[in-house]
Amino acid sequence: MAILPIVKYPAPVLKRRAEEIKKVTKEIRRLIDNMAETMYDAPGVGLAAPQVGESLRLIVVDPTGEEAKELIALVNPEVIAGEGEIIGEEGCLSVPGVRCDVKRWAKVKVKGYDPFKEKMVEIEAKDLLARIFQHEIDHLNGLIFLDRLGRVKRELYKRRYLKHLKELEKKSNNSK
Ligand SMILES: [Zn+2]
Repeated sequence: MAILPIVKYPAPVLKRRAEEIKKVTKEIRRLIDNMAETMYDAPGVGLAAPQVGESLRLIVVDPTGEEAKELIALVNPEVIAGEGEIIGEEGCLSVPGVRCDVKRWAKVKVKGYDPFKEKMVEIEAKDLLARIFQHEIDHLNGLIFLDRLGRVKRELYKRRYLKHLKELEKKSNNSK
């Protein structure tokens, strides 16, 4: 297994619709293992394949954030139903240094192929798990959490983030 580099916004791979996975090959299984390891190492509670530079419809999620405690991997996941609305704080491994409140469905039903169980599954989720699913599936559609804000807030947060990113890059260049 390997820890993969996490792609930072505004990389193009984070802005396009990811490709459907036709078959869960050995390479896809290896990618799932590596994505899980990368998520736990970050540490994070979810990771979508575009965040490691692979434009594929694949996510790994663990609301506990603890190694392999409640690991879920889903291939070609979709939100098929949503209910209620809830506002909660989010951040993203691809958008370091930014956290803000995002409105989401309170409960969702998610459908996808479970590569561990080797079958299609439907998962009903609420609270944190529901939020993580919506955030990660957004990544597969080229959206980040800031795209869920109103226009004014979205532009403000993106501008602030890009400035912060430039400073980070300057710092890492200086230390090279
Ligand atoms: Zn994210």
